[in-house]
Amino acid sequence: MLTFLRQPLVLFTLFTVAVLSIVLLLYSVAASAPDAPDNQLKVTTGNSLPGTAARLAELVPARDTSAAIPADAATILARKQIPILCYHQLRNWRTRDSEMAKTYIVEEENFRNQIKMLADSGYHTILPDELYDYLVHNKPLPEKPVMLTFDDTNLDHYKVAAPVLEQYGFKGVFFVMTVSLGRPNYMSKAQVKALSDSGHIIGSHTWDHQNVKKYEPKDWITQIENPSRQLQEITGKPVQYFAYPFGLWNEQAIPELKKRNFKAAFQLATSRDASEPLFTIRRIIASGYWSPRQLHNSMINSF
Ligand SMILES: [Zn+2]
Repeated sequence: MLTFLRQPLVLFTLFTVAVLSIVLLLYSVAASAPDAPDNQLKVTTGNSLPGTAARLAELVPARDTSAAIPADAATILARKQIPILCYHQLRNWRTRDSEMAKTYIVEEENFRNQIKMLADSGYHTILPDELYDYLVHNKPLPEKPVMLTFDDTNLDHYKVAAPVLEQYGFKGVFFVMTVSLGRPNYMSKAQVKALSDSGHIIGSHTWDHQNVKKYEPKDWITQIENPSRQLQEITGKPVQYFAYPFGLWNEQAIPELKKRNFKAAFQLATSRDASEPLFTIRRIIASGYWSPRQLHNSMINSF
């Protein structure tokens, strides 16, 4: 009875099958462990497994290999948008400010309260390289990411915004139009360099704020190439991000920006281009009329 079990080959085969089954079972336990929300939990999960399984868990390849292959436009468009705020002037309203202008002028105390709301709500600022790596390579972002951008070189960016950001450990992106460098009420070159040196990002916002939809060939030199060179000389870093003046863009501008080493460009709140989402990244203007709560609601509704 069951004499075939005494055959050495059969015994060896059965033994091998049994060992392989156990290894596969342990492997599947390790592989099916739920995604840990942070490294701490991952370490705990690994340590709780018996020796063989723990070693197997270490050998399990990362399941997401998409980081190696740049995402196509459809993939980028499908990823959740990150809220990006656009600020201009940060100063108290004056009687001559028009109703429209007040949209672009956030009073100092309101700005402090808006940024405090972001910090109190658990937001973390991210910079354009992190956004790019998230969109193109699916790299993870911190919890509750937000990007803070500041257009037009206003002196209040250095005097008001930077100290408030510093207070909360936040970093911002400053889109500079180079024509205004050193003029009254605008930042100097030294102030732009100081922002860059303290970890903020300096991007281009053209030479003198002309609408890119109206550029002639020579304008790509004066509005884009020369300002990039100047900003690189000031900061010692490449200029890789662009904000369209007035948020206005067209299809023709995108290859011109790519030719000049830009990795991405920021507009305002219109739809992104179906084939060029990186060059039509959306932002909302943080209105001077908004309370912190209204700003938060707009962030949630717009992205
Ligand atoms: Zn502007």
